[in-house]
Amino acid sequence: MSIIITGATGELGSLVVKELQEKNLDSKIIAVARDIEKAKKQFADTEIEVRFGDYDEPYSLEGAFGGASKLLFISSPEIDDMKRVIQHANIVKAARDAGVEHILYTSYAFAEESKLPLALLHLNTEYAIRVSNIPYTFIRNSLYSEVFINAGINPSIEKGELVTNTGTGGLNTVNREDLAKGTAEVLANEGHENKTYNFVSSKTWNFDELAETISNVTGNQVSHKAVSLEKQMEHFRETGFPEGAALFTASVYQAIAEGETAKTSNDLKQLIGEETSLETIVKKALEK
Ligand code: NAP
Repeated sequence: MSIIITGATGELGSLVVKELQEKNLDSKIIAVARDIEKAKKQFADTEIEVRFGDYDEPYSLEGAFGGASKLLFISSPEIDDMKRVIQHANIVKAARDAGVEHILYTSYAFAEESKLPLALLHLNTEYAIRVSNIPYTFIRNSLYSEVFINAGINPSIEKGELVTNTGTGGLNTVNREDLAKGTAEVLANEGHENKTYNFVSSKTWNFDELAETISNVTGNQVSHKAVSLEKQMEHFRETGFPEGAALFTASVYQAIAEGETAKTSNDLKQLIGEETSLETIVKKALEK
């Protein structure tokens, strides 16, 4: 059996590969990469085969996917969603033409209910996969915890204030490590064909709780200042945040305030057991 992974040199893909290696499966693991040298270096001294495949070069993909019992298709990081639609269609068509037996796709949690434009891209890709008739598993990932909890919060900690327009909105985020563990479980076991999983946390957190956790971890008193969307934009401008990134972040925060990430699920917990705590995620982020 061969497990082929796209985006294997990326942050999530690397963790999935690591989890699979730790399982010592009989399956062959094949990493598909656009930068062959980078991938060969990363997987040197392992049994992992590296194959060239570029989402923008459709003909490279069919060969790269040959012989796949399972293909883990990790979504592209392309920012222009129109280009991403084309890249994803290239991947799905190549998977069909290569005779992939089972495709697993990293989609977006509760995509039909989402107000974020990125959900449309993921739904579009899910439909393309259904059109291909390849047995599928849709692994609908949460927003990563690392998107919100990273070393970038250090200046806010120093000021003792996290300013957001998330209100008391709950976040069902998961860190990449837990997502990779769950994905590796699905890849390593049978019985997941034509299923859709929402890999979100079983309990949400909010920015008030994040501030409290940071205070406990660092010993610095930090509070959450909940502001309006307009005030958030003013705050971003004052701190010199680029306008485009500020607008994107404030829109995501607003969606969170309005319930975008409030829904929980046990799909991931059932596969991995214990989920990483908010405290551990904060500690790891501040170590970096
Ligand atoms: P990442 O570290 O940026 O990894 C992206 C992977 O895609 C890398 O291996 C990259 O290869 C590969 N790639 C990019 N363009 C390619 C192309 N044209 N052809 C072939 N491979 C290509 O992202 P991540 O953190 O692992 O996340 C995985 C995916 O989740 C992202 O790509 C994005 O779609 C999505 N995402 C989700 C969240 C969330 O909060 N849920 C946040 C950010 C992104 P190189 O090593 O050569 O660059």
